[in-house]
Amino acid sequence: MMSDWIEETLHPDFRFKMKVEEVLFEGRSENQHVAVVNNKTFGRTLYLDGVLQTSERDEFIYHEMLTHVPILSHGSVRDILIIGGGDGGMLEEALKHQTIERATMVEIDPSVVEMCRRHLPSISKGAFDDPRVDLVFADGVDFVKTTDKRFDVVIIDSTDPIGPGEVLFTESFYAAAKGVLKDGGILVTQNGVPFVQSDELAQTMRLFKPLFADATCYLATVPGYVGGPMAFGFGSDALRHRQLSLETLEARFADAAIDVRYYTPAVHLAAFALPGYVLKTIEGPEDA
Ligand code: SAM
Repeated sequence: MMSDWIEETLHPDFRFKMKVEEVLFEGRSENQHVAVVNNKTFGRTLYLDGVLQTSERDEFIYHEMLTHVPILSHGSVRDILIIGGGDGGMLEEALKHQTIERATMVEIDPSVVEMCRRHLPSISKGAFDDPRVDLVFADGVDFVKTTDKRFDVVIIDSTDPIGPGEVLFTESFYAAAKGVLKDGGILVTQNGVPFVQSDELAQTMRLFKPLFADATCYLATVPGYVGGPMAFGFGSDALRHRQLSLETLEARFADAAIDVRYYTPAVHLAAFALPGYVLKTIEGPEDA
């Protein structure tokens, strides 16, 4: 059983520890070790294979930035695909947009959904029961290679490139994910904390550049993901999505009439203003 501290195992030479007030669940699914613990500062927190995934306290930052930035950039999303997202937070955030007609979520591990529905209901807030949802239990890489559905926005809300998540950072996956985008579609990814996981972001950007006319990333600081701001990969063939004025974004945000705690149109635009070390990370050798 777990000690009274849980130590994250993501980084080889530094650790993030969290005092465990209560273990709500701990067990192994066929894909990974799953734990839900309660901590005084972060609230209920999900760990997969010893890596912090999301917490009640800071999930709003991550989920708002990985949904409203692509959705409001696009401006007329009807069909959205979420790969991963087992806690339901991404689904909940995306479904705030009434323009969305279908939300397909492809999660490899049913037990993550089951545990999060049971122990982290404040994150999914009933999203799994929304009639617009198609919940598919499958490997995301198989889904994008076989589906005949097409999407305006594809969100890769995966674990880090270890275990089942590893395939979601590969060239063949990104090419297949692009293949399910409608014209003008946007692909966004969870791409780690570049200060301590720069290779992951560099690799995604290297793979995005041949695929998309516009390949970049944007940033937001999520307290539970230690090491500084985290990066979200952004790929699209429609350059217009990142040429929006603040006024246009403000109008779209007002029309969307969504209840948020982090996202604002100004934060959206500012998130793409990258500091030098991140620019250097995403510029491939040919840019140097
Ligand atoms: N916010 C988290 C982060 O940034 O690390 C991600 C949250 S979510 C819990 C990650 C989900 O991706 C998990 O539920 C995991 O089971 C799922 N997942 C991992 N590999 C997958 C794959 N190949 N296909 C579909 N889902 C996958």
